[in-house]
Amino acid sequence: MNYLSTRNDAPPTSLAEALRAGLAPDGGLYVPESLPVLNAEALDDCADLPATAAQTLAPFFADSRLETELPSISREALDLPLPVSEIGVTNSWMLELFHGPTAAFKDFAARFLATCLDRLRSDDDPVQTVIVATSGDTGAAVAAAFHRRAGFRVVILYPDGRVSARQAHQLGCFGDNVATFRVQGDFDDCQRLAKQALNDRELIDRLALTSANSISIGRLLPQISYYVHAVAGLHRQIRQAIDIIVPTGNLGNALAAILARDMGLPIGTVHLATNANRTLPDYFSGTDYEGRPGLQTLANAMDVGDPSNFERLDWFYRDRDLRNADIHADSVDDDTIRETITRVHRQTGRIVCPHTACAMEVLERRRQAGNDRPMLIAATAHPAKFETVVEPLIGQPVPLPPALTELLDRPSHADPISAEFKPLRDQLLAYG
Ligand SMILES: *Cc1c(COP(=O)(O)O)cnc(C)c1O
Repeated sequence: MNYLSTRNDAPPTSLAEALRAGLAPDGGLYVPESLPVLNAEALDDCADLPATAAQTLAPFFADSRLETELPSISREALDLPLPVSEIGVTNSWMLELFHGPTAAFKDFAARFLATCLDRLRSDDDPVQTVIVATSGDTGAAVAAAFHRRAGFRVVILYPDGRVSARQAHQLGCFGDNVATFRVQGDFDDCQRLAKQALNDRELIDRLALTSANSISIGRLLPQISYYVHAVAGLHRQIRQAIDIIVPTGNLGNALAAILARDMGLPIGTVHLATNANRTLPDYFSGTDYEGRPGLQTLANAMDVGDPSNFERLDWFYRDRDLRNADIHADSVDDDTIRETITRVHRQTGRIVCPHTACAMEVLERRRQAGNDRPMLIAATAHPAKFETVVEPLIGQPVPLPPALTELLDRPSHADPISAEFKPLRDQLLAYG
């Protein structure tokens, strides 16, 4: 399988090169040259997610240096719990994606990417520096995935004072080969700093600098596999197509569900649940695509006004009308997020994070509108990560999952750094 750039100006390349580069040299995002068709019968024998991933992703790894290692990569990276639970609303299930080491769905993708990059490394390669700008969840997932891996260093940039106290603690609690900086600015400043570093020839050469943000194809592929595993399993029981509702920011997680459907998985409509950032709902209701600055909301990991994976989605539908693709997008504002967390807890006893609450609200709206098809909701983070939002609403503490307790018991440290590029550049050069 070759990989192309969405901007069509870069030569086709191998999976290994696409994984290592992150972004294509023409500034585009890497895409597989074709989408394989799922082998439904083979999936019947897949007992767990690693087996499903090895089966589903094999065509994407064909002819690559990692082809024979895919089963062991999947076993090492994706052996995480993946419960599908009934929600307490008729014909509705929840795909719980938050049982990894940092309690958000990004653990699946970050661990898969880290394991792939590790397997591509030779002993005499220089130490690679992975730089990541984060609004909260990505940084911790990437840090956990690369922590204490020989040959890698991670540099995290997060906006000081704009992540939850628990998120901040998580970001600074790794140490060893992970350096955490709290930037005196907002998330856009963090992204700009990371981008500047990734365009700085001297830094790239001296530090073997690379990124691990959500545009990497190595993060998209494993996300396809958990939809395949969960939907194939549910379909064996109910024998009907299943609608999926995905809390959506940069559109990485939802794109994986859309691609799984295009590969033949029995998925009906894919519903994108966004927060007050309306770029996607406006687009799917007929206006031209228009990227905008992100608005701050309670669902902070989805505070995205110009979703980076839209370019990929658009590429996959280049010969078809994307607005006829059976994709539905709905925006949920902060007041409704609060009401939904309260309502879901009162009606079902379940505690949901602000991101998952957006999806629960979309479920409610679709049911009200008469859609009674089977629905599967992607639950993207554990509510204990957002305790300052959730606990006042439900009037009780959110029990911590063991993985988070372990991280929060460690000491945490982050150095302040200005939003100017020079101090960061000096810091980075000191490593090289
Ligand atoms: C990152 C994140 C999202 C958004 O996922 P995208 O792939 O960027 O659309 C949703 N919920 C949580 C908890 C996240 O961390």
